[in-house]
Amino acid sequence: MSERPRILTGDTPTGKLHLGHWVGSVKRRVELQDSHDCFFIIANMHAFTTRSDKPGEIREDTLGIVRDLVAMGVDPERSAIFLQSEVPAIAELTFLFAMLLPYNRVMRNPTLKDEIKVKNLGDTYSFGFPLYAVGQTADILAFRPVGVPVGEDQVPHLELTREVARRFNQMYCGVGDKVEDDHHVAEGGVFPVPRADVGRVGRLVGIDGDNKMSKSLNNAVFISDTAKQVQKKINKIYTGRQSPTEPGDPNNVLMQYCEIFIPDADRVAEIKDQYARGADIGDGHIKQELGAAINEMLEPMRERRAGIEGDDATVIDILKSGTSRANAIAEETLEMAKEASGLGYFKRRLDLG
Ligand code: ATP
Ligand code: MG
Repeated sequence: MSERPRILTGDTPTGKLHLGHWVGSVKRRVELQDSHDCFFIIANMHAFTTRSDKPGEIREDTLGIVRDLVAMGVDPERSAIFLQSEVPAIAELTFLFAMLLPYNRVMRNPTLKDEIKVKNLGDTYSFGFPLYAVGQTADILAFRPVGVPVGEDQVPHLELTREVARRFNQMYCGVGDKVEDDHHVAEGGVFPVPRADVGRVGRLVGIDGDNKMSKSLNNAVFISDTAKQVQKKINKIYTGRQSPTEPGDPNNVLMQYCEIFIPDADRVAEIKDQYARGADIGDGHIKQELGAAINEMLEPMRERRAGIEGDDATVIDILKSGTSRANAIAEETLEMAKEASGLGYFKRRLDLG
């Protein structure tokens, strides 16, 4: 087995991947492929927490996300893209970890609260919905990763994961409660206390200028959008500015996007300066330049996607191979966790081929 440090991160199949995923997490994943063993989970069971009545859509989105990841430059030979539902160790660890977290601690998670509000879940959400926060600690810890490349909204989940790792190591592995996070494994802990590795842009705002760009909020530019669709969406950005000579807000959504997606920093500085002064630079002109920059970035992704578009068998092969690699690590972790927590009665072998 490889000695390279591992990372784990992933996506819930609740839609297609968008620019927020790229800047918040996937770009980092692509970079880390060179130095780390990478595991990218498709959290398809978690998609059931809010969409159990739409299994067909979850399946579509699952396959679509694999295509999106490959398009963005994740190399399935080097990185394992895998299905949560076919890694049984994750479900087993979820049950065990659910015992290590106080109920109220889980329900206090701000990301969970936010989702209940934004997705209008009211008070009729399933029992499984808050359980996903516990499940996510198992998704991560099953791989004993050093880091988790995520957007800002995931930091509270990561904090929960770090708590589970500490508590497990302290309760079952004799790690002292004063031991620093980085020393848990050296002191005999099963689990490293993983770090959140937030991308350069931890929270990309949507084209509505209000909410986080999100696959479920109708405010996203998708990686799979055509050049025309991209430009159309960018043109829809509302700034409230009336004329090219009206001084604009250099921090509004349009300027934020320029800063993130126009690669030439001098040009960005120039645009922002002219914009702030209202020095004859129209929103329409900027939107054209921005749309072109985004399309230039997406073009190689479109080319890579063309290679696996329409072909489900290839996508399923990618998932099968990734899941097999994921099971090798997750089963090893589960065995260690069972040994430590007194559940190691005998070795079991599941045929997870
Ligand atoms: P949903 O609305 O269903 O929660 P999502 O768009 O938030 O979907 P997730 O699958 O929850 O997508 O997130 C996958 C990863 O992408 C996470 O690490 C998350 O932090 C990151 N991410 C998602 N949206 C953004 C964004 N707008 N800016 C930065 N990072 C993001
Ligand atoms: Mg989310």
